[in-house]
Amino acid sequence: MTKKFDRKKNNKARKKAIGYLVNDEREIIRGKEKARKLRDSAWWRKKCAPGICSYCGKKVPPDELTMDHVIPLSRGGVSERFNLVPACKECNNKKKYLLPVEWEEYINGIIEKDNMAGGK
Ligand SMILES: [Zn+2]
Repeated sequence: MTKKFDRKKNNKARKKAIGYLVNDEREIIRGKEKARKLRDSAWWRKKCAPGICSYCGKKVPPDELTMDHVIPLSRGGVSERFNLVPACKECNNKKKYLLPVEWEEYINGIIEKDNMAGGK
């Protein structure tokens, strides 16, 4: 996790150097930093304590839950509490290899009530 972040940071530095840091990207980096801070918070620990994946509802040990952005940062999501949920590794992996639209179908029923307002 940290490695990934560092790589991104290097990328950021490089792009900054050539004066090519698009706003979106800066938002993503900022979002990741914010998420990291929230992951250390009591709020997050409390959220993970029941050990339930927000997507599939499966019970997993709290330390196996990962922090997931319901609306990914890369798609305009933010690192705010309403957009961060504990997810099991399985769902997390799924999210990685499914197309965004497929993932959306997968979780649609589950997060319907949070409707992805404004998300295109
Ligand atoms: Zn899950």
